[in-house]
Amino acid sequence: MRIFYLGSIILCFTLFNFVCAKVCEGLESIRATDECYMKIALSFGLTHNPKAPFGTLIVDHTTNEISCYGVNSNKKNTLLHGETAAFWNCTELYPSPTDNDMFNPGLNWSIQTLYTTGEPCPMCASQAIYRGVHRVVWGSTVEDINYSGCPQLMINMVDVLATSKLGGNRPNPKAPILEGGILKDDCDRAFWCAFSSFRGKSYYEAMKKEGLEDFVKDRHARFSCDAKLKMYHYGL
Ligand SMILES: [Zn+2]
Repeated sequence: MRIFYLGSIILCFTLFNFVCAKVCEGLESIRATDECYMKIALSFGLTHNPKAPFGTLIVDHTTNEISCYGVNSNKKNTLLHGETAAFWNCTELYPSPTDNDMFNPGLNWSIQTLYTTGEPCPMCASQAIYRGVHRVVWGSTVEDINYSGCPQLMINMVDVLATSKLGGNRPNPKAPILEGGILKDDCDRAFWCAFSSFRGKSYYEAMKKEGLEDFVKDRHARFSCDAKLKMYHYGL
């Protein structure tokens, strides 16, 4: 896990040295704030894993401080999706002061927002629910990512969340708020270009069979992958 922590520290002092100084603070709306953090998440993903640009931030939305970063780290461990890496990183950075993470975590998770370039898969969505984050914000949907060629569990987070119940099948009052589609075009483009190697003959045949030829045409028309992917450097 430490490698991701170190990666975030290095990033702070190089590409985004002023991200650490609350770069997304004081914006005019929640939407603008969400887009600001999503730019950082996408850039983090593209920088550290351009072939799977699932970048994640966990942000204390009461202070506008980034609690930790995560990025898909499938070469190290195929289960380390961006969100999973971020949850581990935050737990490493903020361990329970009483060695009891379940009842006394080192981070107040109820004031954290999870930003992630792709809609969380069921594994990562479950962790967001177990952790009790306040909001989960993403760019591309599970369908966007799958239709770009990448294997996915085709379950949306809203459907995972619907299964979260307290004992006696009661509603979960701490269920996170979900918000999708933030910087969707930028995230869609990043995934479309990243997963080009997945799109072989069988992919195109399957998309045709599913009646999704227009999706493919739209992506090819709008997203050129020849040029270098646009990076966000916040004016640097
Ligand atoms: Zn996942």
